[in-house]
Amino acid sequence: MRVDILTIFPGIFESSLRESLLGRAIGAGLMDVRVHDIRDHATGRHRQVDDYAYGGGPGMVMKPEPIFAAAESLGDGAKRCILLSPAGRRLDQRLVNELATQPWLVLVCGRYEGVDERVAEGLPAEEISIGDYVVSGGEIPALVLLEAVSRLVPGVVGTEESLARESFTDGLVEHPQYTRPREFRGMAVPDVLLSGDHAAIERWRRGTAQEKTRRNRPDLLEH
Ligand code: SAH
Repeated sequence: MRVDILTIFPGIFESSLRESLLGRAIGAGLMDVRVHDIRDHATGRHRQVDDYAYGGGPGMVMKPEPIFAAAESLGDGAKRCILLSPAGRRLDQRLVNELATQPWLVLVCGRYEGVDERVAEGLPAEEISIGDYVVSGGEIPALVLLEAVSRLVPGVVGTEESLARESFTDGLVEHPQYTRPREFRGMAVPDVLLSGDHAAIERWRRGTAQEKTRRNRPDLLEH
């Protein structure tokens, strides 16, 4: 899968694309992730990427021209362009599954008060939000989307089984997990997990996943 990220802060991506699962996936050639500085595509002496908002109001808005130029520099091919935006469709595991089937994603990161509407309209780019809150830029949201999608690219996560069991794949959050030690500060690992009885363990996991979903995420059980 190829992913191109358009940003005015390329440095934010450096360590995330180098470390852990994502770093390994890129190193192994499973993911081809390229970060582009929008400012390299801005013209004029000051390479300006933002400007005042028409209609007034505080703060600056990202200009469309450098973003279009950066996107057009990527070359031909069927790309799915995404603008990270709190006003977008909310990212969930279903949308992640859908994005993971795409061969080529382009992620546009906003800053300041946001991005000129013509980027969404004319690039065109679908707006996607990581949740109902506002952060200061699209870079962390782009990393959230990228990490979620990359987990579904074959070979990125070690065992397919760990994906099949994860939160949201069956409409529930995941069951509780335990590792050693068996006893820690008076809290013991449930006996059933040590029983070797796989059917009983499966029942326990299903039951505790349902219980935890009811407690933490009752909205998931509504449909
Ligand atoms: N004034 C805007 C917020 C701008 S925040 C508003 O009220 O909607 C600056 C940038 O951060 C946005 O352009 C977007 O790219 C990013 N951003 C902030 N919150 C986000 C969220 N919840 N999901 C995705 N991107 C977000």
